[in-house]
Amino acid sequence: MNFLAIIGGGPAGYTAAEQAIKAGKQVVIFEKESLGGTCLNVGCIPTKTLLYSAKQYYNATHAQKYGVTAENVVFDYAAMQKRKTIVVRKLVAGIKQRLNSELCTLVTGEAAVVSRTDEKVVIACNGVEYEAENLLICTGSTNFVPPIPGIKENEAVWSSTDALSAKELPKSIVIVGGGVIGMEFATLYHELGVPVTIIEAMPQILPNIDGEIAAMLRERYEKAGVQILTDTKVLEIKGNTAVTSQGDFAAERILVCVGRRANLSGLEALTDLEYERGIKVDDFMRTNLSNVYAAGDVTGKIMLAHAASRQAEVAVGRMLKQIPLQRIAYNAIPSVVYTNPEIASVGITEEVMDCEVRRLPMTFSGRFMAENEGETGLCKMLIDKKSQSILGVHAIGNPCSEFIAAASFAVRMGYTVSEFKQVVFPHPTVSEILKEIL
Ligand code: FAD
Ligand code: NAD
Repeated sequence: MNFLAIIGGGPAGYTAAEQAIKAGKQVVIFEKESLGGTCLNVGCIPTKTLLYSAKQYYNATHAQKYGVTAENVVFDYAAMQKRKTIVVRKLVAGIKQRLNSELCTLVTGEAAVVSRTDEKVVIACNGVEYEAENLLICTGSTNFVPPIPGIKENEAVWSSTDALSAKELPKSIVIVGGGVIGMEFATLYHELGVPVTIIEAMPQILPNIDGEIAAMLRERYEKAGVQILTDTKVLEIKGNTAVTSQGDFAAERILVCVGRRANLSGLEALTDLEYERGIKVDDFMRTNLSNVYAAGDVTGKIMLAHAASRQAEVAVGRMLKQIPLQRIAYNAIPSVVYTNPEIASVGITEEVMDCEVRRLPMTFSGRFMAENEGETGLCKMLIDKKSQSILGVHAIGNPCSEFIAAASFAVRMGYTVSEFKQVVFPHPTVSEILKEIL
């Protein structure tokens, strides 16, 4: 009874379990599919593994600008998929290893809450009941299927999970939703030579990204032959044709990635639980029920693996009354879109706040010049006009995913321009752009 129950073994669930174990707390973690959750099994890791293979092929066939010519470069999609499966398997095994403790019981099965009082939460799984002191809900999210006629039970329609498990590349693809998943799959398919059409309902692709940077990516992808329609709604899917407000678009497959929704099944017994996009939580991830917490995608706050892990850390810290209690700094959570070139950002955008904007092409970095022939890239830093503190950084250009953590650190710590100027960056690295821009 004196233990923490965690439903869901994704980044939120396994991070929470690890932290609780380290603090000497007994944990029971329920996972109905595979440890690692969406991120390791059908999300971050398999997509990035396939994207890396595609990039190798693309670079090999576009290396002339670096003085290298390779002939008869071929790829083997089945081999790419096989490698992806091995990477995933190894990482999942690693999580299992990390949870290997006398304090942790892993239950494989679908859990459901049976009842709750302020003293205990009763959870059932595989016909067994468990009485826990606290419950942490980490059930994640699943693909949202919009109510478009013809979308259901249509073999031509893929979710991201279908696309990841497909043994063969599609001959052509229409991608509905030019958000993060849509743009990453567009990159994968385009780099492997598949004709791609993206249909986005909003006026810009990647609607949550800095507008100027999203426009740069669009221009780059359109030049390379990717067809992009914005402000376009899919009205119906007839077989393998997307009927839209701008005409009909046919392809062998139609990949639908228009967002994800919180997984809430099994929680019906928590009749008083409050919702707001997902499960409503306070700054410490506590729900309106005193001994029930939630972390990760299920809260609907920000659907990123690293945000899920941080939320889980905060929840466990609060539950175990660890001092000092920590809140999450949502303003300093970085995000990366793994297109080619990559996009990375942290903090506010120009669209939401009037502030000083400093901007510099990435070509001001010597390392960027050495490794990104023909590219300009862009880095923008948003600075509070009065305090001169750094509020946001947005970049496009490879490999900005690798230096955005430094910008997050500056935003998190509230560094001013003069404080950040004192940080020394190694030369030559693309991260030096953060210093050049000051
Ligand atoms: P999940 O990872 O979804 O884990 C929830 C777990 O709970 C699942 O394993 C599920 O089986 C289990 N579960 C649910 N209900 C029950 C139940 N009743 N009983 C037992 N078990 C249950 N984020 C990034 O930060 N970077 C990326 O590059 C990135 N790429 C992505 C690519 C794709 C294609 C997708 C779909 C997502 C991507 N994400 C990425 C998002 C990331 O995967 C999620 O934000 C992250 O996995 C959320 O973690 P979580 O622990 O909240 O939920
Ligand atoms: P998203 O919210 O990023 O993008 C969905 C897109 O679909 C939006 O641009 C939206 O305007 C568009 N859309 C919605 N309805 C539409 C319609 N009917 N027709 C055409 N377009 C429509 O969601 P996603 O791409 O599905 O990704 C889900 C979550 O997974 C995101 O929250 C994202 O943060 C996370 N994720 C992160 C990464 C990463 O960090 N690199 C990668 C993949 C996924």
